[in-house]
Amino acid sequence: MMLSAFELKDRVALVTGCNTGLGQGMAIGLAQAGCDIIGVTHSDAGETQQAVEALGRRFLSIRADLSSIEVIPGILEQAVAHFGRIDILVNNAGIIRRQDALAFSEQEWDEVMNVNIKTVFFLSQAVAKQFIQQGDGGKIINIASMLSYQGGIRVPSYTASKSAVLGVTRLLANEWAKHGINVNAIAPGYMVTNNTQQLREDEDRSKEILDRIPAGRWGVPEDMMGPVVFLASKASDYVNGYTLAVDGGWLAR
Ligand code: NAP
Repeated sequence: MMLSAFELKDRVALVTGCNTGLGQGMAIGLAQAGCDIIGVTHSDAGETQQAVEALGRRFLSIRADLSSIEVIPGILEQAVAHFGRIDILVNNAGIIRRQDALAFSEQEWDEVMNVNIKTVFFLSQAVAKQFIQQGDGGKIINIASMLSYQGGIRVPSYTASKSAVLGVTRLLANEWAKHGINVNAIAPGYMVTNNTQQLREDEDRSKEILDRIPAGRWGVPEDMMGPVVFLASKASDYVNGYTLAVDGGWLAR
């Protein structure tokens, strides 16, 4: 009986940046739990679409560049025209720029802030309006980072944006809980994706990081599946405004 609280059969989940990496892992995990998926990506999401459809679930591909919020009304329109509703939003798309703080440019600042926090806020706002119109709540899951808690190094705009994700997750939970909307975040640790390729190629940094992870390994997209299904399901109805670390114990160290 308890396991049925995790069931997501026929729920519609919008996942940004699900063509690869953690977004792909979460889209497939949500589909395994029963969701149909709206994939909002700027690259081709064919691989994820195939994996979702192989599970017997539907996949709507919407191509959009999330560096601008102008695309948001069109995304909502297409999503609702196709599925009639949205139940879950996963704000996963994100970018990183690595440069010394002394040399960091305005462009490197704005590019990251636009995708990682501005679009996250305004897409959440648009989807929350849709949830309120539907009248039966909804779930928003933002993707934070270890740099929501720590300073990091050579990633000023990334740290600013991911610290903001943690704060805005709390703020939105405060405002929207009364509408039955849960807003939580997942803070991944160090995971094997394109985002960390540069880091993993730097032998010294890579060893330093691995030595600090109690689990003794980098995370993989599959590690996100259980947490995202939990936060998207009824099982987490009384969890709100919280950022859950999925980090192999990194923060506990
Ligand atoms: P990734 O493989 O680089 O995936 C990032 C995703 O965001 C890709 O699908 C990418 O699309 C998409 N994206 C970037 N800019 C976009 C834009 N302007 N419009 C639409 N989509 C855009 O990295 P990842 O590790 O899976 O990252 C997923 C999330 O996890 C990000 O928010 C990241 O900050 C966060 N995170 C990752 C780690 C880690 O260790 N990997 C740790 C903490 C947090 P393209 O493939 O087309 O570029």
